[in-house]
This record gives sequence, structure tokens and C-alpha cells, in this order.
Amino acid sequence: MRNFRTAALAGVATTLLALTACGGGGELSEEGAADQPTAEASASFEAGTKMATISEAGKIKIGTKFDQPGFGLANLENVPEGFDVDVAEHIAAKLGIAPDAITWVPSPSAQREDLIANGEVDLVVATYTINDKRKERITFAGPYYVAGQQIMVAKDNSTITGPESLKANPDQKICSVTGSTPAENIRQYLADPSQLVEFAGYSDCADQLKNGQVAAVTTDNVILTGLVAKSDDAFKLVGEQFTEEPYGIGITKGDTAFCEFINETLSEMSESGDYEKAWNATAGKYEGTEVPTLPTADACV
Ligand code: GLU
Repeated sequence: MRNFRTAALAGVATTLLALTACGGGGELSEEGAADQPTAEASASFEAGTKMATISEAGKIKIGTKFDQPGFGLANLENVPEGFDVDVAEHIAAKLGIAPDAITWVPSPSAQREDLIANGEVDLVVATYTINDKRKERITFAGPYYVAGQQIMVAKDNSTITGPESLKANPDQKICSVTGSTPAENIRQYLADPSQLVEFAGYSDCADQLKNGQVAAVTTDNVILTGLVAKSDDAFKLVGEQFTEEPYGIGITKGDTAFCEFINETLSEMSESGDYEKAWNATAGKYEGTEVPTLPTADACV
């Protein structure tokens, strides 16, 4: 196991990394990745489309998270790994772009619409909930997964048992991320607004919980599941999921052709079994997750 791990960390063989992931049992010290998709060099697209532009340029800029185990977590070479990364690599491959021609752009929750609207990335795959407010500035392909908001606390906390217990415990602060849907949604459950502490990323919230600065963290269940798995048994999830968070892929507002292309790629990923494979190699490694089926895509508008 040790030799496999060294090879994988050196970036020598993705296949070995996948083997490590499968055989690793409870060992979760690095993210897995499904076999990387092969770039489809023969792809040809209608002139003037985003697909043609990217495919001719031979490179792509993709926004994702760098601090979320299971979805987008930077490895030792600062290259992100996870389910979002695998999904994005499939889209890139359909455009003839190999993984090493992808520029990964860290995309904190509050910056995603700006990154897309300013043209700093071609797409964002980053645990990104589809909602109307965001649709005012960007277009979403997908959804490709549906998460739900939940709460994480320290293992020995028996006071916070779900969102309803927050009001009665005003001294117990809860952490979430600026610009995220869970940070907005949790407000209705608080004793007063100062009970919520906001940071730029979920790893910041996990640090706060570890240090006892906050009593709880809230965001999507699958993000919390990854943080619990990496917590050395220090954290646990409490209560049920209390929202639906359909994850979309953010692109330039109004680019319906690119949106349809991405939805088609997602369908193919599901039909070929690559969607399930990608899940099992990444977020699916964590206890308490279930293999999803690809949700029906929304209309591209
Ligand atoms: N899915 C939620 C959102 O898009 C929370 C996760 C995140 O902040 O990336 O706001």
C-alpha cells in the first residue's frame, strides 16, 4: 500500500491512484480519481460556438473548489481532485482537452458568478447550487447531483441536534461560507444574526470547529461528510437534511448551445457508467454517501 501511495502522490499513475482508492478501506488521506477520460481529438464543433473556441485553443479554464474533500480538494501538487473535478474532466475531454491542458481556478463560493461573468473561467463545477438569484448573472447546465443542507458538530456536542435547536442555544455559534446558499438559509433558525460566523471556505469553518471557536458548521451534507471523514473522528453530522441543493455547472449567461453540450456530456457519462465510477472513486468513498443517479437536466435557458 505504501508503495502505491508514493507512486500516486508523485503523480506517476492515475490508475494506481484508483487502485489505492478501491483497496484503501478506511484510508482517506488522498482523493481518488476515476480513470481519466481520454481527450476526443476528432471533436468538431460549429464555428463561433464556445465549444469550437475552446477546442481550437486546446485549453480550458475551469473553476472548482480546492478545500472540499470528495468534490474538489487540492493534492500535494496543488491539483484539485474529486467528483466535480472528474465531471469537469469529462466535459474537457469531449472538447478534445486532456487533463494536463486544464487550468484549475480556485473558486470560493462568493466568487463564482464573478469568475464566470468576467470571463476568468470557461465553466464552474464547484458544489454550485442552481437558484434564481444566480441565474440572473449566469446560466446553469445540469443538475448533475442533488445534495441537501445539514449540520456538523463536535463529536461530544449533544446540544445541537438540528437547525431547530439553534435558537435555544444562542451562545453556540454556527459557521458557514460567505456567498453560499446554506449561509443564507440558516438565518431563519438563529437566535440573532451574530450567531452565524462566515468564512471564505469550509476548511476555515472546520478549523474553527476544531478550535472550539464555533459549535457547529452548516453546508451541504456531502461536503460535511468529507470533512467528518478527514476529522480524525472529531466531528459528526446531526439532524436530517433540510434543503435541496441541485448542483449545476455555471457558464456564461445565455449560452444555451454550451449548456446543451454539457447536458449531453453528462448523459453520456451516466450511460457509459463513468458517472457512477467517478462517484465511487471520489465522494462515494466516504461513509454515509449513496451512489446517485444522474438527475434529469433542466431546460437550457
Ligand atoms: N451548494 C451550496 C452553494 O452553492 C453550498 C456549497 C458551496 O458553498 O459551494 O452555495
